[in-house]
Amino acid sequence: MSKVLVIGCGGVASVAIAKICQRDDIFSHLCIASRTLSKCGAMKEKWQSATKTQISTKKIDANSKPQVVDLIRQFEPDILLHLGMPYHNIVLMQACAECKVHYIDTASYEPEDTNDPVWRKQYDKRCKEKGFVAYFDYEEQWSYDKAFKDAGVTALLGGGFDPGVTSVFVAYAKKHYFDTIEYVDILDCNGGDHGYPFATNFNTEINLREVSSPADYYEDGKWIPVPAMSIKRQYDFPEVGVKDMYLLHHEEIESLTKNFPEIKRMRFYMTFGQSYLTHMKCLEDVGMLQSTPIEFNGQHIIPIQFLKTLMPDPSTLGARTVGKTNIGCIFTGYKDGKKRNIYIYNVCDHQESYREVGSQAISYTTGVPAMICAALISKGIWKGAGVFNLEEFDPDPFMEMLNTSGLPWKVDENPVLVD
Ligand code: NDP
Repeated sequence: MSKVLVIGCGGVASVAIAKICQRDDIFSHLCIASRTLSKCGAMKEKWQSATKTQISTKKIDANSKPQVVDLIRQFEPDILLHLGMPYHNIVLMQACAECKVHYIDTASYEPEDTNDPVWRKQYDKRCKEKGFVAYFDYEEQWSYDKAFKDAGVTALLGGGFDPGVTSVFVAYAKKHYFDTIEYVDILDCNGGDHGYPFATNFNTEINLREVSSPADYYEDGKWIPVPAMSIKRQYDFPEVGVKDMYLLHHEEIESLTKNFPEIKRMRFYMTFGQSYLTHMKCLEDVGMLQSTPIEFNGQHIIPIQFLKTLMPDPSTLGARTVGKTNIGCIFTGYKDGKKRNIYIYNVCDHQESYREVGSQAISYTTGVPAMICAALISKGIWKGAGVFNLEEFDPDPFMEMLNTSGLPWKVDENPVLVD
């Protein structure tokens, strides 16, 4: 039995909390700590009567290492599951290493202000050395490997769906289907409709920063940079249908090509409707996606954070979203000298997710794997001191838990490839 401290109480955390409560055979205690205490209280109210897991709540500023360390010392968790903002990854990792607590997150570190001169300088150097241009990457988090090794605890990075499940799909494909993997295309399709002209299905700020960021893919040991939204394909997704998808930078490419250096090319595509793209472009053109503070009526505001306050909260989209997601990886490689292609994917229905836990499928497909990561570390099935990405552990127990935790997957041994 273990004690888990969840940081954040938004869309993804709501699902992870529900799934942790379902597994009261693994998690004896849960502390929900976030910026808005009333949201943590509402979660406790919702789930406490249905679980033996003892739930407590706490207001916290995840930017403040002293506050996080104090809370860890009071609650004494085995695991800190970070489901807040990626801006806080470094502070939370430092606190975990200091207090010898396992750490899990679902998105790679990025700074709140991408024009901060100290970060900018490191980033420009890293981009030059590595050749990619997106604002989020693993470099800084990986540099805490020694700190976690010395502390004897695990930091597990990118434990959502993509990164997360997609990372495990690669390890699983390598273990069971291929001697060598040459090409991987990660496809993230949200065929859901929430009825709004413009809304994001996870944290608005992070979503818009990710999608408007310069894009790239990996080929023959190099990153190939391309302008945002400049590579478009159509794909007929099983159980969803034909969708337009666009190439983006995504952090799992960075870790997967490091951990599987045989991969010659890896690309990441996400589907978007025209209304989303038109709104995003317009907001970008007028400066609303900026993350550098501006002065307005004597106050400093960050345009993208102001925009977030005007847009629908992704955690409230559940009731009105219909349709399905299809997220997975298409692999090309060799087994016993023969070429083969497979597609490993999950289909998740927005309304089924809503009926089970009260959330739409994007929060569901992220919160469920986050709980699975915590469960596997709690049980000592995944263990190691240092900083890891999910593909570095045995994929089988994770894949089994996906099937029993609401995210069953399929393997298509004759998929249509992306050109
Ligand atoms: P939300 O905005 O719904 O939730 C973020 C939570 O963090 C909110 O509860 C917010 O508090 C809290 N928070 C923000 N700042 C602080 C702070 N300083 N101190 C304490 N708490 C704070 O986001 P999502 O749930 O949609 O996303 C959560 C994470 O999951 C993000 O990092 C996102 O990038 C990642 N993600 C990963 C995916 C994957 O597949 N790997 C897919 C989707 C998301 P408040 O309630 O007051 O706003």
